[in-house]
Amino acid sequence: MCGIVGYIGPREAMGVVVSGLQRLEYRGYDSAGIAVYDAAAGLQLRRSVGKLQGLVTRLQQEPASGQLGIGHTRWATHGDVTEQNAHPHRDASGAIVVIQNGIVENYLELKTRLINLGIPFVSQTDTEVIAHLVGLYYAEEGALEPALRRALAELRGGNAIVALCAHEPERIVAARLGNAGGVVIGIGQDESFVASDVPAILDHTRDLIFLEDRELAVITREGATITTLAGERVQRAPVTIPWDPIAAARGDFTHFMEKEIHEQPRALMDALRGRIDQERGLVHLEDLRLDDAALRKLDRIYATACGTAWHAGLVAKFMIEQLARVRVEVDYASEFRYRDPVLGADALLMAFTQSGETVDTLAAMEEARAQGVPSIAIVNAIGSQAARVADGGPLYLHAGPEIGVASTKAFTSMLMVAYLFALRLAQARGTLSPSQIGTHLQALVELPSKAARLIEQAAPRCRDLAERYHRVGDALFLGRQVNYPIALEGALKLKEISYIHAEGYPAGEMKHGPIALIDEEMPVICIAPRDPIYPKMISNVEQVRARRGQVIAIGHEGDELLAAKAHHVITVPATLPLLQPVLNVIPLQLFAYYVALRRGCDVDQPRNLAKSVTVE
Ligand code: GLU
Repeated sequence: MCGIVGYIGPREAMGVVVSGLQRLEYRGYDSAGIAVYDAAAGLQLRRSVGKLQGLVTRLQQEPASGQLGIGHTRWATHGDVTEQNAHPHRDASGAIVVIQNGIVENYLELKTRLINLGIPFVSQTDTEVIAHLVGLYYAEEGALEPALRRALAELRGGNAIVALCAHEPERIVAARLGNAGGVVIGIGQDESFVASDVPAILDHTRDLIFLEDRELAVITREGATITTLAGERVQRAPVTIPWDPIAAARGDFTHFMEKEIHEQPRALMDALRGRIDQERGLVHLEDLRLDDAALRKLDRIYATACGTAWHAGLVAKFMIEQLARVRVEVDYASEFRYRDPVLGADALLMAFTQSGETVDTLAAMEEARAQGVPSIAIVNAIGSQAARVADGGPLYLHAGPEIGVASTKAFTSMLMVAYLFALRLAQARGTLSPSQIGTHLQALVELPSKAARLIEQAAPRCRDLAERYHRVGDALFLGRQVNYPIALEGALKLKEISYIHAEGYPAGEMKHGPIALIDEEMPVICIAPRDPIYPKMISNVEQVRARRGQVIAIGHEGDELLAAKAHHVITVPATLPLLQPVLNVIPLQLFAYYVALRRGCDVDQPRNLAKSVTVE
């Protein structure tokens, strides 16, 4: 959710960079900073915590002059919101400055190595690691581009990185790793721009070059030279973009749903921001208005929601029970409110809602309050009703607006936030040690880039499968344990947008009924990661095959057994078993999307459905 702007040309960089950052203000941030270079004054850094206006005021008091500059609005993932942690970050020599959007997944390991080399750190961020690595290699290479290239080769994660060096004032170097953050370069008359998002530079030029994954650009006043990280030259002419706000909001995508599926790596990262301290193995949920004592006293949790959000509640049950050992009951909000529930003391209601306006979920929250039970809301829409009435506080998803009626990024972000909440509970109740929490946090920070890789690989595969299966009348989705709700979600996605009848089932229940439906036409989507229940899923796959059903399996990369048994396999990267649903659901979203597309359905506004259900 953070922004990057850079400028090189005849004008004062400060004005261009700050006005570009202002264009990105809608994305939210917690601090901002700028570095400007001038031969007389050298590198001038100004940083400030809070709104961009704070930086503007600071620059009025202490202007930074020069025709080369980069600026950043930060939304913290690693390290508190302090001036020291605001970007840009410098290397040890002070000549190189770096800004970053994203997460360096292996920063702890790199930081230890750099500290052992005697390099002092002044911030708690992962970004400072990049600055020092570039500085280290600059000492050997004597030039910024090869130094950054070598540093990039050691980073794991999804990042957009922009750097400049006081010894090379004729260039800015920018790079993109993974799909979690974009880099766009604007080409003007004797001036060039770089930014994380198009609106930041549209006032100056419409001739844009977009960097792809694992590309690096050397940007000068005359234009940009693009290479792959391996050093091969890339020829890419600028595209000139017309400016229509709706088309611009959809970007290159045909539908909002497709865009939102692709936004998941970024949304997953945004759900983590400011909430984790990997070094100390801690989770901070600042919006949560329940202290450790309140969390320790909890005896049970009621997760309540509707539709896709209810599936998130079902997954949350596994997370909370296993990590924090608190029992969880999951209810449809529309049932909960009328069943006269016996809630008891020391209970908490957890409401899952994207819009924060779902009428049944709000009524469930009211019912809890009437019985003296506090509620928290796992909610996307800022300032919505659910966010306002949650006594224990809203835990925001920070997924950005979701326009497609069939929820995608809000669902995976709900799983992310539920996991953070489970860890926060575990921390308060002592069911996990800080080092165990640290292991979970490492898995969480690796998820956005795994999701990005998965989307890239699974999209063409799902498009082919949709071509093969888009005419079927029915489909069955099977999963066990924490992946059972994902089977429900896969079926719901398909129903919602393609109007194919689909059912999700716990795989073990298949033989108690739905097996009668299976024939050679029926696709059966089996979610079978290599977890402790894997052998049982394999038996289910065999049972489907014995009835001549078509097996589409979702399994781990490199699983040859599954590949031999299923008709088709879509592979997903492995993560901790309780986090696997976040990845497993992505191919199911893509499959539903491509099937609907192939059937000519109105993907973003399916018949009879509304985005937020404010009626009973
Ligand atoms: N991980 C970096 C930090 O916390 C970048 C955050 C961002 O994308 O704004 O400093």
